[in-house]
Amino acid sequence: MSALNTDKISALLDEFSPEEVPIERRIFVNRNLRMNSIEFFGFDMDYTLAEYTTAFEVLQVQMTVERLVKNLGYPKALADLPYDPEFAIRGLIIDKRHGNILKADSHRHIVKALHGDAELQKDERRALYRHERVRMKSDRYALVDTLFAVPETWLFSKLVEMEDAKGQKRVRADRYGTIFEDVRKTIDTIHADESLKSIVMADIGTYIHRDPELPRTLVRLRNAGKRLFLLTNSLGNYTQAVMSHLLDGLRTDRPDWRQYFDIIGVGSRKPAFFETTEPFKRLDDRFQPTAAKVRSFEHGAMYHAGNRADFERFLGDGGDHVLYVGDNMYGDIMRSKALTSWRTAMIVPELETELLRISALRETLVRREELDTLRRQLDSEIHHQEHMLSGLRGLAREPTVVNSDDVDVQPPSPVDARPGLDRTSVKQAIAQAQKQLKSREKQLQSTLQRIHEINTEVARAFNPRFGMVFKCHDEHSIFGEQLEDYACLYTSRVVNFSKVSPFQYFRAPHDFLPHEVPPLPRRIG
Ligand code: IMP
Ligand code: MG
Repeated sequence: MSALNTDKISALLDEFSPEEVPIERRIFVNRNLRMNSIEFFGFDMDYTLAEYTTAFEVLQVQMTVERLVKNLGYPKALADLPYDPEFAIRGLIIDKRHGNILKADSHRHIVKALHGDAELQKDERRALYRHERVRMKSDRYALVDTLFAVPETWLFSKLVEMEDAKGQKRVRADRYGTIFEDVRKTIDTIHADESLKSIVMADIGTYIHRDPELPRTLVRLRNAGKRLFLLTNSLGNYTQAVMSHLLDGLRTDRPDWRQYFDIIGVGSRKPAFFETTEPFKRLDDRFQPTAAKVRSFEHGAMYHAGNRADFERFLGDGGDHVLYVGDNMYGDIMRSKALTSWRTAMIVPELETELLRISALRETLVRREELDTLRRQLDSEIHHQEHMLSGLRGLAREPTVVNSDDVDVQPPSPVDARPGLDRTSVKQAIAQAQKQLKSREKQLQSTLQRIHEINTEVARAFNPRFGMVFKCHDEHSIFGEQLEDYACLYTSRVVNFSKVSPFQYFRAPHDFLPHEVPPLPRRIG
């Protein structure tokens, strides 16, 4: 065999041999999915194929602040505040009425509330939120559900602090709601009027990471017979700039990014795309819509707007043969799940840092599990002891119980037929039970204190203010719950698909009801 052939074959074998994938790069499965049955692999662009840098977040904040100052009279001092990319996480809720930023668990209970940068004390938080389940449909609340919205959450908190610093004299009704809407509208404008995008396009490498593994990931899927499409809300010119930055010139066999995709959909207005009847418009070389009615898709052409029904009609297929990969919980994942039978994979970059931190904290987390088991046992022992004590006290009140000194002289009553039932032994039994109860309660207190310390330590190791993205201690966060309910698969980056076979059968872990959980381990500690 010639050297050339041997090289080719060994390269091919390398390509097909399974890799040991580190946990932070794995693909996780909520619902079984056979890659064999997926014919079409669709990708969102922003924050899915294109990962933005912190410089982009800073730019978003700077531009918003400039406009708030110039157009809406906000204080110039805002421009001097350094942006903190660690301030917020996805899944937070903004309470426009009180100007608070909240983290809720999957039951919509508020577990953390910040006003500006100050955490609300437990009693303040309870007074405001204990009796209310957060209704996300209410105008009062806004969910931070995209990575684009994380920087504006920091900005909102700073504006709340500034508003409060004015004191009570110039208080506007609904002042926090107004601040929120001012920020929201300003950000909408900088995205929509292309001012933000023109700066990004002029220096794209500063604002968007380029992952060298992306071309191989896409080619691998194509070689396995999948048809690839791009479906983004970004408009044609911007899509051209971003995709060209991500893919052009990285492979000699595909110098142009359009060669990676069978269909290119831009300005698609997801989630409306999944339910409206908006027609597709083919774009010309200057990204202007052409008049001709679109009846099919041509390879390499760019199509603007459109709708899912036409999309599937032109493909001659669709439904659960489509896997759509996106980062936007509502626009890409929840609505597509509600309105189509497309399968979904969610890109969650936060997963990577969280999993690395979880690995680093493994011993502490195991200790927390052990302490939690101990807490449950102590709880149950205490309740048992309380029950016993109440029985003994009841007994002590019975008239038939006698003083031990009198036992010999008094005739036995019917109750005294039970051996040892004199007042002294009952008292002794009560004292003994009380002692045991106290000791268990003390142990429980110190266990709870230790759990609290560990929870604080763990939360600090993640986001210092809001803890983990996916969890609120033992419960899922709202974000974690939505991820579980709506995404068939989830992973930290698109390129993680290059680490599994395109024929993979993704199997979900077994779901357990509480009664199916194995019995608690032996008591520890
Ligand atoms: P996709 O994720 O590729 O579908 O596209 C997201 C598009 O939404 C990008 O063009 C963003 O500029 C745009 N976008 C993100 N956040 C906002 C916003 O708050 N208002 C308006 N457009 C936004
Ligand atoms: Mg996106």
